[in-house]
Amino acid sequence: MTVDAVAGAAYIVAALLFIMSLAGLSRHESARAGVVYGIVGMILALGSTLALTVADAWGGSGAALGLSLMAVGVLVGAAIGLWKARVVQMTAMPELIAMLHSFVGIAAVLVGWNGYLTHEPIAASLLGIHNAEVFIGIFIGGVTFTGSIVANLKLSGRMSSRPLMLPGKNALNIGALVVFLALTVWFVADQQLWMLIVVTLLSFALGWHLVASIGGGDMPVVVSMLNSYSGWAAAAAGFLLNNDLLIVTGALVGSSGAYLSYIMCKAMNRSFLSVIAGGFGIAAPTSKDGEEHGEHREITAQGAAAMLTGASSVIITPGYGMAVAQAQYPVADLVARLRDRGVEVRFGIHPVAGRLPGHMNVLLAEAKVPYDIVLGMDEINDDFASTAVVLVIGANDTVNPAAAEDPGSPIAGMPVLRVWEAENVIVFKRSMATGYAGVQNPLFFRENAQMLFGDAKEKVEEIIHAL
Ligand code: NDP
Repeated sequence: MTVDAVAGAAYIVAALLFIMSLAGLSRHESARAGVVYGIVGMILALGSTLALTVADAWGGSGAALGLSLMAVGVLVGAAIGLWKARVVQMTAMPELIAMLHSFVGIAAVLVGWNGYLTHEPIAASLLGIHNAEVFIGIFIGGVTFTGSIVANLKLSGRMSSRPLMLPGKNALNIGALVVFLALTVWFVADQQLWMLIVVTLLSFALGWHLVASIGGGDMPVVVSMLNSYSGWAAAAAGFLLNNDLLIVTGALVGSSGAYLSYIMCKAMNRSFLSVIAGGFGIAAPTSKDGEEHGEHREITAQGAAAMLTGASSVIITPGYGMAVAQAQYPVADLVARLRDRGVEVRFGIHPVAGRLPGHMNVLLAEAKVPYDIVLGMDEINDDFASTAVVLVIGANDTVNPAAAEDPGSPIAGMPVLRVWEAENVIVFKRSMATGYAGVQNPLFFRENAQMLFGDAKEKVEEIIHAL
């Protein structure tokens, strides 16, 4: 049996494993198995690609140098990847993922350039297709590259999460697309180096602008959209490299990322097309920060403990601050103690609470909070009105009434947890600072809300102590 035949079979098995991995990752219970399928599939894919490359290059001129460079690349890359995965904080995962997407993007750009500069002789009838692959691959890769860099900068707080509102931003985006389409047609007919340079720069500028134009509240959708783009960029590279597995895997990532973006847009009441078009049709927010909201009230941990002891029902809505403070363990302890005292305690989880989908569910599962008291937004939203105490632990945008009540707010229309309908709300945070979307929260100034300032973990521990 030839190396080609074995590698071809291994590619099919790897593609199946990737599909099983995606299916496994869609549920808590099967997520671990999903990760294992993915790892095995990737080892198989890498192994067979390496075997194919070695078989192709064996004996050729410069083979030893080429193979050694490849081995060094794989080893250095794997070492950096392992180290980064070990040290990354859970709260920094989305920005790491955004950075990884940017690598896929730049890889597609380089593969495209390579496809233009050095390729085997191509029959005249196929040259047009090859040129189109080069051009489209570079464009998708370039948009993914700079878009992911902006996402990384925004998520890590090194760039403002506010949307960039350039005058005529929609015309700029549409103009860039029209130029790309016209150049593609031209390049297919007559390949010229300058066109490749222009499309590379154009795609870099468009990627940067598309993601810079998206506000903080819509970033979750952008992250999954870039995931999708990185898949299409990989598929484009697969066409150029004539690698079936890369095409299949890229298409899997591309389509599942697109579907996830669509689901998120529906959950957050956003238009899918508008978000992927860099906020197309979204008017600049009219509400100003710094508007007078009135006075806020404060409560101590002892006061909170007294309120909780007398409560019949409690709902906890965690957010990004719970993850930062690593407060999930004392929160789980507090919940167990309150339940022992006969208080009904449940969690209300917003779909984009934290910094990556499912962030809160993972933290609560880690702290062994029973699944059956952890409810999604739609399951719990009608129950706030009949709840005695809501503990908002490090959440802000996801409980902001402005989303429901102020049409001029940057997060207007995004469904939120209606915590303000409860009898009492205690908000755990360190200051009056805004949440990720950069919008002030009128909840903090409501009659029934009290602020418990300080690190969420320390404050929950103080409450446990005072109970
Ligand atoms: P927010 O970012 O709106 O608010 C978090 C709050 O936690 C802040 O107001 C902060 O206030 C507080 N906080 C931070 N550290 C601590 C601490 N140690 N102790 C106590 N409080 C702390 O979080 P939400 O979870 O409510 O909303 C998520 C936001 O992130 C949304 O805008 C969403 O769109 C966006 N997003 C979500 C992603 C996802 O996939 N889920 C991905 C990217 C963005 P203070 O500084 O005063 O303490």
